[in-house]
Amino acid sequence: MTAPLRDSFGRIHTNLRISVTDRCNIRCFYCMPADNVQFMNRRELLTYEEIERFVRVAVRLGVNKVRLTGGEPLVRADLDVLVEKLARIAGIHDIGLTTNGILLAAQAQRLYDAGLRRINVSLDALSPEKFREITRRDGYEQVIEGILAAQAAGFDPVKVNAVSIRGLTEDEIVPLGRFARETGVELRFIEFMPLDADNAWEREKVLFAQEIIDTLSAEIAPLVPLGRQDPTAPATEFEFADGLGRIGFIASVSQPFCMSCNRFRLTADGKLRNCLFSLEETDIKAILRSGGDDDEIARAIRECIAAKKEGHEINTARFIQPERPMYSIGG
Ligand code: SAM
Ligand code: SF4
Repeated sequence: MTAPLRDSFGRIHTNLRISVTDRCNIRCFYCMPADNVQFMNRRELLTYEEIERFVRVAVRLGVNKVRLTGGEPLVRADLDVLVEKLARIAGIHDIGLTTNGILLAAQAQRLYDAGLRRINVSLDALSPEKFREITRRDGYEQVIEGILAAQAAGFDPVKVNAVSIRGLTEDEIVPLGRFARETGVELRFIEFMPLDADNAWEREKVLFAQEIIDTLSAEIAPLVPLGRQDPTAPATEFEFADGLGRIGFIASVSQPFCMSCNRFRLTADGKLRNCLFSLEETDIKAILRSGGDDDEIARAIRECIAAKKEGHEINTARFIQPERPMYSIGG
């Protein structure tokens, strides 16, 4: 058996996030610039065949879980074809997708039938005006339709990701909590991270998980911790005391979980990153397109993981924001 992908801190990496495009049909201010976005040239994007080949090598090294993301993954044509290719790879136990949900209603069933089983839809606000303020586009109704279509297609649970921002989304916390109780979606609040294209992140703008827990507990029902079901999962899970509704928190800023991280990322243009906040990348596309063999790809993956730092340094003065914003890395 091949040795697992272990970094110098003993963390074993089995979870790969794959960005399929940097394009997006909305412009969330915490991720993209408002306009004049310089997108990757289409020829720079890895083809589905190249992604499949890379994943086959990664599986030999112990990867068993993949998640497709972007940019907005559903703007890339025929994403179900990629899902089908990945679902056929023996050793992949779990394929997930993170989407803004705008194009989901039309694609949910096809994706489910292709083998996708996990879906996270991003929705920060239940007020259409606030949605427009955050995303700088319309589309709120389509997102809601997408969530319902995903449930109807068989995705269970559907998870909803909400980025929380101080001074902006406080009024959305309770409506989102009620929405989770009424629809059965699992809601996860994500702390705002310094990965925005505008470089406008400030610690003061982060609405911390504990504040949200306090609000929901006071306004709806006490939240009871369920702990981390999976020790490598970034979310800490809670349930309302009356058993109606599950809420998770990805507290990357206030409670970093770097020491249990098992993830790495492939960007749409074929660069491997061992961390969201990494300042270095490994050029996988260059190997794929210059006739490199599978062993060369495997070596590159191992070296990338081996070089992973202990953790992000958001809470220190040493922190340097990566050049690539979130939409270009793949969140
Ligand atoms: N477009 C898809 C979507 O929005 O779900 C997938 C890509 S998006 C980059 C993945 C996730 O990252 C989304 O849930 C989004 O809200 C989150 N995200 C983007 N920028 C972020 C930031 N600066 N801090 C925290 N989360 C962020
Ligand atoms: Fe697009 Fe997702 Fe970034 Fe929003 S968070 S701009 S939906 S890639």
